[in-house]
Amino acid sequence: MMPGKELRKETALVRARVGTAGADPLVTPIFQTAAFRSGDPFFYTRSDNPNFREVEELFAFLDGGAGAVLFASGMAAVDAVLGLLKPGDRMAAHPLIYGCSYRLIVDHCARLGIRLDFADLSKTKALHSALHADTKIVFFETPTNPFLKSIDIRRLAEAVKVKSPRALVVADNTWATPLFQTPLALGADIALYSCSKFFSGHSDLILGAATAKDKAVLEMLRKRRFYSGAVPDPFAAWLLRRSLQTLEVRLRRQVENTRRILSFLKRHPAVREVFFPRVDGTQLKAYGGMLFLRLDGDPDGRKADALADALRLFDRGTALACVSSAVAIPYTGSHLSMTEAEKAGIGLDKSLVRLSIGLEAAEDLIADLKRALKARGRNRKP
Ligand code: PLP
Repeated sequence: MMPGKELRKETALVRARVGTAGADPLVTPIFQTAAFRSGDPFFYTRSDNPNFREVEELFAFLDGGAGAVLFASGMAAVDAVLGLLKPGDRMAAHPLIYGCSYRLIVDHCARLGIRLDFADLSKTKALHSALHADTKIVFFETPTNPFLKSIDIRRLAEAVKVKSPRALVVADNTWATPLFQTPLALGADIALYSCSKFFSGHSDLILGAATAKDKAVLEMLRKRRFYSGAVPDPFAAWLLRRSLQTLEVRLRRQVENTRRILSFLKRHPAVREVFFPRVDGTQLKAYGGMLFLRLDGDPDGRKADALADALRLFDRGTALACVSSAVAIPYTGSHLSMTEAEKAGIGLDKSLVRLSIGLEAAEDLIADLKRALKARGRNRKP
């Protein structure tokens, strides 16, 4: 609607707007707006926005829960879950989780006087001794980060129901994605995501999400987002929606590339161990994109560091689950927020290498690894 001729230019500059009532775009446009007209159900972007809602409805479809909430980052989603705890509550967690989640959980619990029970939740005895009547949250990642160990979600959720009936089972499903693993269908109450990883796939946005089995839990998370303001930017949500269109195709290629690289690494004499999750076909349908390795005779991680430097087709840095391959040393990267003692407690040292496998030709990635494993530091990047 263009303003009438009687208006002054300065008013027209402020008020001019095109009518969109007849427009029918094939792609949802970016609703880069803070507010909506009075009476519009979206109300205010801190509350809701069509770009968030489109992704949330898709996530709810993929995970099969009551719904999803999109957050400004994966950490904001973790923080919103921790916000469900009250002083005096109790929480159980597996210590093999992303370093920043570990730090946030430990510090949050210490500040609020929440008793935190760290345990290897994949082991029946440890799981049972970590669960108490007043436990309110059970938090884990599966496959774990680092080491890609598997936690049986159904078995864990059944034990929680018996021993800690008031607890919410929270699974960070970032690395498996809902295409390969659906925690809510296996008994979890909340599935968490860093959308900055496989969902984005291009290392160009930071977003997070939570899906919840029950409406009441979903509403608590939504309310927390509204009042904390940990809300996404509409453009980032739009970029995420676009990336999700290729998620399945990207993952398929990453799984195949990873399979080939895994078989190369397992046979290489310089590689001492390779970490990859158990794909049982029931809980975890497939897996790819991420693996960890240790080199032979590398107690201080010098060889790991040299390998990371020598690779040319793997960017060294925090990029992860992206179309382009990357290499990182978790000790000084993803788990930097943990103290040396905490890292030692989970068996993490400088010798662990993380590879993120992208969409390049597997042959080229293998040739790069072969050369770098031979060079181990002599062929530095230009
Ligand atoms: N959860 C997992 C498993 C992650 O790997 C990460 C980040 O690496 C996060 C949560 C945090 O997500 P974000 O970086 O989007 O805040």
